[in-house]
Amino acid sequence: MKIQTDLEIIKELAEKRERENLEFRAFLKESYMETEEMDEIVHNLYEQVINEIDCKKCGNCCREISTVMAESDIERMAKGLGLTDSEFISQYLEEDDDGFSKELVIKSLPRPFLKGNICTCYEHRPEDCRSFPHLHKDEFVFRLLGVVENYEICPIVFNVYELLKKRFSWPKKRKRGWYSS
Ligand code: SF4
Ligand code: SF4
Repeated sequence: MKIQTDLEIIKELAEKRERENLEFRAFLKESYMETEEMDEIVHNLYEQVINEIDCKKCGNCCREISTVMAESDIERMAKGLGLTDSEFISQYLEEDDDGFSKELVIKSLPRPFLKGNICTCYEHRPEDCRSFPHLHKDEFVFRLLGVVENYEICPIVFNVYELLKKRFSWPKKRKRGWYSS
């Protein structure tokens, strides 16, 4: 499979495949496979894909996703920039209130640390940024909603999810009646 990195094409395909992606998610959730076995497959695909994608040419997660800041992130970044925690918070963070909880996130407009596609505070970046797109983690089947959401944003997620469909011969098996939703 050709690795797709064009963000426009990925966005277009994500819209077209919205239903298919949700159906595949349901298939994976209900799959007979052990969590560890699924994780091993995903981790291998992830390794394969990250070797072919250069995040420095993309930066889309930095533009599209809010970064939640833990206390330790604030301390580390403030120190890295030579600021006190409160100076850092007032200059770079804003409150995100979704009606259920309030969190501090990096200001979205303008993105203060993004220059082109490059993070200007890479060494001190928050955990949330370090671990994105989370495909190296265990228990993939319990994080599928996030995976489907990130499919249109992140080329790594897009390609891993597509390779996973291939791995499970999706949607051929469904059409043969092997799986019914
Ligand atoms: S802190 Fe850096 S890595 Fe994180 S979202 Fe901002 S620019 Fe991207
Ligand atoms: S993690 Fe994904 S969205 Fe972020 S820069 Fe890398 S390929 Fe792009």
